[in-house]
Amino acid sequence: MDPKSTKAVAIRSPRGAKVTEIDWGDGHKGTYPHELLRGYCPCAGCQGHSGEIKFIAPAAHQLEIDRFDPVGRYALQIVWFDGHDTGLYSYKYLRSLCQCTSCAGTSDAAGHRPVSRA
Ligand SMILES: [Zn+2]
Ligand SMILES: [Zn+2]
Repeated sequence: MDPKSTKAVAIRSPRGAKVTEIDWGDGHKGTYPHELLRGYCPCAGCQGHSGEIKFIAPAAHQLEIDRFDPVGRYALQIVWFDGHDTGLYSYKYLRSLCQCTSCAGTSDAAGHRPVSRA
């Protein structure tokens, strides 16, 4: 895999938005509905300790993002407005959740099927 494809160069998530956009190093423009990002929060509190990550439908008040904090060079911590901040989303994982028009048809996340952490 092209290492640039898992490097986030810009993140746009205006306050109040329901969708975050991530520009990837290979030029890909990623689209991330917050419902999906929250539903696929990979933390143990949301997911338990099983290998695959399942979609867990979030409540309406859980869809606002406060900020994104980079964790080392491999992941982003998403801090949600309701205070939930234990989800570490590796760039590889985030890339696999992309819902742009070219990815949405092929992504397991689009059909809310379990996705792998890797
Ligand atoms: Zn979580
Ligand atoms: Zn995409």
